Amino acid sequence: MVNEWLSNMHYKLLPAACVLCGANAEPGGQLCFACLTDLPFISTSACTICAMPLVHQGSVCGNCLKQEPFYSKCRATFHYSEPVAHLIQALKFHRKLAYAALLGGVMADALEDQLEQRPQLIVPVPLSRMRLRERGFNQALELARPIARKLAIPIDFKHSHRNRPTSVQSLLPADERRRNVRGAFEFDHPGRIKSVAIVDDVMTTTHTVNEFARMLVAAGVDDVQVWVCARAAPAPVMPLNQAGT
Ligand SMILES: [Zn+2]
Ligand SMILES: [Zn+2]
Repeated sequence: MVNEWLSNMHYKLLPAACVLCGANAEPGGQLCFACLTDLPFISTSACTICAMPLVHQGSVCGNCLKQEPFYSKCRATFHYSEPVAHLIQALKFHRKLAYAALLGGVMADALEDQLEQRPQLIVPVPLSRMRLRERGFNQALELARPIARKLAIPIDFKHSHRNRPTSVQSLLPADERRRNVRGAFEFDHPGRIKSVAIVDDVMTTTHTVNEFARMLVAAGVDDVQVWVCARAAPAPVMPLNQAGT
């Protein structure tokens, strides 16, 4: 009993160790100040619609100029690079659910600073029933929880469904990506939902979230935003009006 008490006090008095470097973490957090500020945050140089990193500030990327997506805006907190890639992989494949609290907490702080309009609902991108059974949790939902708490927006994960597992988009040729996710989602909320923020872990191509956004718009949602933890892009790309000069 005394030993248990001493051991509890030990945990309470000692600061937690930073999960990346082992130094003392910030109070109540999982990272030290240096590791937190070193995270690969996306600066303002990103497409104002899909968050694709760009060379110039305040531009729209070639893809969004060619075909506007069904969502009005995507906010990505990080580049998909280390150490965020490691934290996301560990969350998804090694059940490190504490990393969802870490990453979702940082996303919430970043979103709170930039948010012009609060959506009515946060809807995590659903997993198929098979994938959910394999993994045991939906990483998008786990990332959404701290965001919902901090921004005081309800999460809805009961009225959206993914009716089949889809292949990993990044492994498919470009023309098959759209086909791979076409018709994969359903949204059957009984109420009138005006605005939604979709939450996902990584956005590699825009096809998956765009297909989900298409379903939400078809179900009567007026405005769909996308909030992703990390945006994967091979390299900064030139906006269309600058390319080739
Ligand atoms: Zn550290
Ligand atoms: Zn774009």
